[in-house]
Parts: sequence; structure tokens; C-alpha cells
Amino acid sequence: MTDDLLDQARGIAGSWLRALPDRHVGPLVDASALRVALDRPLTDAGEAPCTVLDELARDLEPGLVASGGPRYHGFVVGGALPVALAADWLVSAYDQMAGMHSSSPGMAVLEEIAAAWVLDTLRLPASAGVGFVTGAQMANITCLAVARNAVLAQEGWDARADGLIGAPAVEVLVGDEVHVTVGRALRLIGLGEQRVTRVPVDANGAMDPDALAQALAAGSGPAIVCAQAGNVNTGACDPLGLIADAVAARGAWLHVDGAFGLWAAASPIRAHLIHGHDRADSWALDAHKWLNVPYDSALAIVRDADAHETAIGMTAAYLAESDHREPTGFVPEASRRARAVPIYATLRTLGRDGVAAIVDRSCAHAQLMAGLLSDGGTEVLNDVMLNQVLVAFDDAPGVVARVHKDGICWLGGTVWRGRGAVRVSFSNWSTTDDDVRASAASILRAAAAT
Ligand SMILES: *Cc1c(COP(=O)(O)O)cnc(C)c1O
Repeated sequence: MTDDLLDQARGIAGSWLRALPDRHVGPLVDASALRVALDRPLTDAGEAPCTVLDELARDLEPGLVASGGPRYHGFVVGGALPVALAADWLVSAYDQMAGMHSSSPGMAVLEEIAAAWVLDTLRLPASAGVGFVTGAQMANITCLAVARNAVLAQEGWDARADGLIGAPAVEVLVGDEVHVTVGRALRLIGLGEQRVTRVPVDANGAMDPDALAQALAAGSGPAIVCAQAGNVNTGACDPLGLIADAVAARGAWLHVDGAFGLWAAASPIRAHLIHGHDRADSWALDAHKWLNVPYDSALAIVRDADAHETAIGMTAAYLAESDHREPTGFVPEASRRARAVPIYATLRTLGRDGVAAIVDRSCAHAQLMAGLLSDGGTEVLNDVMLNQVLVAFDDAPGVVARVHKDGICWLGGTVWRGRGAVRVSFSNWSTTDDDVRASAASILRAAAAT
């Protein structure tokens, strides 16, 4: 029975994946059609699992998006490398409770090794604390919670025990182009989304380090600076080395939201873009974007592993204490899936060079796209040094709608410095030069149809 169902799922997955590169990239039906198809009467007696699987796939797939395919350029979205997907299936089959060493020594040890490999690949301090979380959103929350407690501890305040009520004020400085998930993280950890100093950015969206230094010099007391590696519109990376200098002068905490941009550290020819990244105190990093493992997968990394575990870990009598690293000590979760397995399998399969090759290929695709679109008479708004291309259109929503209707590729609109634009993002392992040409042609057709 189990084997039959797994074979059936394998067949469904195989057909989906084989069709993925050529599928109309957007959904084929709207939400009301999906409700009609999926909202069946829930029975008392239940149904045969093979029927459920078959009908689920048939009814659901028209509402899916080929976001794991080679011409999905929306948001910043990776695909799933074959080995990452296969390893992810094993995570479900093994079904380990990966929160504690005692509940799965195998997964706990594998997680330690995957963590060490990520730190090695990105040239981050080998002794850093690493938590495997769902996404950069949760990584930002985790890292900033550690940051909050650490800067308050310097003032003699125990935020773990006493919270924030009556605590010294913590100053938070962010770039004007800060990602929305950092704002939500600050909101959830009690520092407030609006109670921040916004530091001006340059034309590409990177933080002005002199303005940051001035803002830091103007204040005193505990402070956290949130820098960014990889702006979602332009790919801009804040000048982390200069920022680290300014932060050190104040004795503040430097957090880097490097959801995708931190992977530039893996590439010998792109690492200069984030020069100084290893001087931060904490880093938020996605694996489901540029490493191309399935959702959901990200890492919360903190230089001071003790501070990380002190702020985030938990203790209770029934949780077996051990001398080992406890996975739950570094994430705000208790029971959870063994999220490190696809990362382990992917890094081992790719090697350092393979990771760099994916980063470099995506950046080359962004260059190719920018060239094709400007040759086609459009205005590229950003300095394309990473994997994002931002193109101006007077009627960006119209262009986006026509591109989606064409179904060759998928991208999103935005507003950049008051101008309508579309964002073309590259982070999928399977994208080819021909895919880039096909997407560019579709975008130019949509623009000409205005
Ligand atoms: C994608 C992204 C996030 C949020 O990551 P999730 O994986 O969606 O939680 C945060 N910051 C930046 C810069 C991003 O690109």
C-alpha cells in the first residue's frame, strides 16, 4: 500500500516536472474554478488514498504556477535541484523529529555538518551559531531577537528574563531600502516597525555608509544596524565593509539580511560585491532561493553561538539534556522537519564550484536579459551587477498582464523611485540562455502591444 502510493506520487511528480519547462508559467484557472474542483464534500467514511492523490493532483495542478521552472522571474524564487527534491522526499519518509539530538541523533549530526558547510561556502566564521528555519523572514526574526538581547545585555539588562518593559531604549538603523520582512521582524520582537532611523541609499538602493556613520555618531547606547545584501528590485548590496567600520565605532550590532545576496560570497568573481560580509554579527540567508532547495529552507546565523542559544534556546525537565548541540537551541521552533537534509545533499552534490556556477550563471542571465531589453528599446533602471533586472515601463501593470497572458514567463511589477517598472529575477538552476531569449522576446512583445 505504501509503496503503491509512493509510486503513484512519483508518477505525478515526474509528469509535473517533465512538463514544467514548457508549461504556461502562470495558473490556468481562477480561484472560483479551483474552489469548485477542490471543495468536495468531506465524507464521514473517508475515501481511497489512491483516488484522493489522483484527484488532488488533477484538480490542483491547473491552479499551480511553474515557479520552479526556468522562466519564472517573479520575486526572487529558486527551483529545486533534482538531488534537493529527492533528499526532501526522504525527509518526509524518515519523518524524524529533528528538534533534539535525543529524538534523532542522525539528523542532529547531519545538521551540524550542513551548517559547517554553509559557513565554509560563504566564508562565514566557522564557530557561528546556525539555526535552520523556514525562510529569511524567520531568520531575520531569530537573528534580531538575539541582537536585541545581546545589545541589552551590554547595558546590564536581561531581556530573556525580563522582556522589554522598562528596558533601555534600543536604537535600530536600517537602510531606506530595507526589506519588508525586517520591518515585520522588528515589529514582532517588540522593537517596533516605525521606530527606526532610516539611512539614505544611493541610486541603486545601497545604504550610504557616511550617512550611517553620522547617524550612529549622533546617538549613544544600545544600537542595531540592519544592512542588506541583495535588494529585491535592483540586487544592490550595501557596502558591508564600510558599514562594519561605522558599526564598530559605535559598538553596535550589525545584522545582514542577505536572503539571496549573501550567496555572492560563494563566487570568486562576485564576492567583492559583499566585501566585509564576514564582519557582521548575524546573517539571514535563504536556501530555497539561490541554493535551489525546495521550500521551506533558510538559515539564521549568529557569530556568537552562545548568545544565539541563550536568546533562542529552551530548557524543560522532560527534554533530555545532552552534551550535544541541540537543533532547537537555535530556532524559535520545537518539533520540526529535518530541513538540513536537502541542504546537505545539495552542497555535497554541487561542491563549492557548483554553488558558484549557479550564482554566476544567474548573474550572466541578468546581464543577457538587460542587454536584450535595452537593445529592444527599453530603459534598464538598475546597475545590473547581481541577478536582478529592473526595467521601466509607463504602463508596467499592462506589460505584466500581457506577459502573464503569453505564458512564456512570469514576472512582477514594482514602483522604483516613482516610476513604474517590471522586475526580472534570476535564481533558478535550470534556466538556459535560450530561456532568457524567449522571456526577453515575450516581454518586448508585451511592451510593443501597448
Ligand atoms: C526573500 C527575501 C526575504 C524574505 O525571505 P523569505 O524566504 O520569503 O522569508 C527577506 N529579505 C530579502 C532581502 C529577501 O530577498
